[in-house]
Amino acid sequence: MKIDILTLFPEMCECYLNESIIGRARKAGFLDVRCHNIRDYTLDKHRRVDDKAYGGGTGMVMQAQPIYDCVKSVAGSETPRLIYLSPQGKILNQNLVKELAREENLLLLCGHYEGVDERVLEELDFEEISIGDYVVTGGELPALVLTDAVARLLEGVLPNEDAFTEESHFNNLLEHPQYTRPEVWKERKVPEVLISGHHANIEKWKKEQSKKVTNEKRKDLLT
Ligand code: SAM
Repeated sequence: MKIDILTLFPEMCECYLNESIIGRARKAGFLDVRCHNIRDYTLDKHRRVDDKAYGGGTGMVMQAQPIYDCVKSVAGSETPRLIYLSPQGKILNQNLVKELAREENLLLLCGHYEGVDERVLEELDFEEISIGDYVVTGGELPALVLTDAVARLLEGVLPNEDAFTEESHFNNLLEHPQYTRPEVWKERKVPEVLISGHHANIEKWKKEQSKKVTNEKRKDLLT
């Protein structure tokens, strides 16, 4: 899977993408993520990529031309799924993440300031995806959230399939509670069954707890 991230702040993205599980997956070649600086495509002699909004308003708007040229150059002869991270898009959930993980190539556009000139979104037919009904300052965090969630489902990134199929949301259930050493902490004991060594009972407990926790915390997922 190849993911191209188009941003005005590539270092911000690289910083996260070089660490931990995603960093290791990139090094091992399970995931090819590249960050591209939209500013490198501006034709403005002062390297400007934004301007005032027509009709007035507080913030600046990212111009169409640098984005268009950046997309064309990065995509080349490929036809990546074009996604603009936007608070106006459909909400990212695990089903959408699964769908995106089946793609060969995603191109993620990060807006900043007031957002991007609508015409480039129309011209290139961008799909819009949101990470939730709130607004953050730029598309970099949303692009990283999407990249991370997709990457975890790719072969080789996590140690085995159980690492994500048993986790919250994969099957519309939340995961059972987790415990680690010590066995007793502030007089709170780890559930007996987890230290019993009885694998069938442990599995049964995990399934029951998963349903119980979902019912308590997110009843809506059960409907
Ligand atoms: N003026 C825009 C609006 O009201 O719809 C918000 C612009 S926001 C301050 C700047 C950029 O952050 C957006 O272009 C988008 O790329 C990104 N962004 C902000 N909130 C987001 C969200 N919930 N999901 C995805 N991207 C988001």
